[in-house]
Amino acid sequence: MSKKQGVISLAILIGLLSTYFMGWGLDSQTALLIDQEIKKHTPEIIRTRRFLHMNPELGNREFETANLIASKLLSFGLEVKSGIAITGVTGLLRGMEPGPTVGLRADMDALPIQELTDVSFKSLNPGVMHACGHDIHVAIALGTAKVMSALRDKINGNIKFIFQPAEEGTPAGEEGGADAMVLEGVLENPPIQAILGLHVWPENLGQVYFSPGPIMASSDWFQIVIEGKSSHAARPHEGIDAIALSSQVIVNLQSIVSRAVDPTDPVVVTIGKIEGGTKANIIAEKVTIEGTIRTLNETNRKKIPRLIEDVVRGITHSFGASYVFHYKKGTPLLYNHPDLASILAPTLTRTLGEGNVRDIKPQMVAEDFSYFAQKIPGFYFFLGVKDPEKPSMAPLHSPYFNPDERSIALGIKIMCRLLFDSLEYQRNIGEVPRQ
Ligand SMILES: [Zn+2]
Ligand SMILES: [Zn+2]
Repeated sequence: MSKKQGVISLAILIGLLSTYFMGWGLDSQTALLIDQEIKKHTPEIIRTRRFLHMNPELGNREFETANLIASKLLSFGLEVKSGIAITGVTGLLRGMEPGPTVGLRADMDALPIQELTDVSFKSLNPGVMHACGHDIHVAIALGTAKVMSALRDKINGNIKFIFQPAEEGTPAGEEGGADAMVLEGVLENPPIQAILGLHVWPENLGQVYFSPGPIMASSDWFQIVIEGKSSHAARPHEGIDAIALSSQVIVNLQSIVSRAVDPTDPVVVTIGKIEGGTKANIIAEKVTIEGTIRTLNETNRKKIPRLIEDVVRGITHSFGASYVFHYKKGTPLLYNHPDLASILAPTLTRTLGEGNVRDIKPQMVAEDFSYFAQKIPGFYFFLGVKDPEKPSMAPLHSPYFNPDERSIALGIKIMCRLLFDSLEYQRNIGEVPRQ
């Protein structure tokens, strides 16, 4: 352990001990005030959520959603900025005393899915639905802003509420999402020291799922174009069959994950699209294959594309074909900062009770909250939204996805407590070290 790490660990130890013995963080009076404020505003917040659900908008097109958010934040007395990375909005809440700044991020976009639920507040926008629960995320962040602004005289430091467009992706050819917000300086003015985020999860209401370290995978895109030579289907010796070669490529790509990667380190290589050939009686000249690579560390992230290209090169060249390999880095790995986790995981337990904070294995899906968490310590967890009385619920991205709205009040309560505790921690102990 280096001297610097020793000092950092000592600071964390002091922080944890003082949490334990002095119980700083949330006093019981503030905890009660949070609960009272939530109760007072829940009906209005549910109305807002239903309005958002009825009026979903796709990535980089969240204009009405952003207008609604900005006007709510203004009415709470926050300093509001709109039009960040096209439709992004921030609201800065300055506490009574100066101090550190903590961020809370909610994503705003919906999905191109036709809603099939039977709720009374179904989407009015044909083919567009909040099927990933971002309407719940916005409602929780707005509710938290409302409650925290009512408790402003108890806040030492600032809270920046960040409403982000296009988490599910942008229209073709457009930039956007968390990456674009970071580039436009959303983590500055004032500089944010730590950032919180959540995602609804189709598990029981009352439970959250959390793990320190890697929690969601990096997601990168690749395309392989195999170019052979066309000929009559009955005279294959006069051509180079791009379809036969592509099938060899696909089979051999499977051995990258099974033979070339440490089996304790999950990796996914999925081919999701293949296109080639023109007619049954013609040897195909060209095949295009597209896929996604998911990894949980940078070593594999660098290694896998090289291995894919090696396989493609070996097979195509040995049969006289050629290839073009395209690779594009997408969302980075989402990492829960271990030091921030050790400070805030106890807050989850204090809020929900032992047994309701569940470990979760890293998920191979991706989430662009990782762009924020790459720059500053991030804390991200999954909030259960399944009615515990029901045996199951439709998954995320399903046209039947229908989260339990009681999760909104609980999400606000958790976020308020996390915000108070992280501000207090940073004021008393210091900034969580960036790694
Ligand atoms: Zn989604
Ligand atoms: Zn989502």
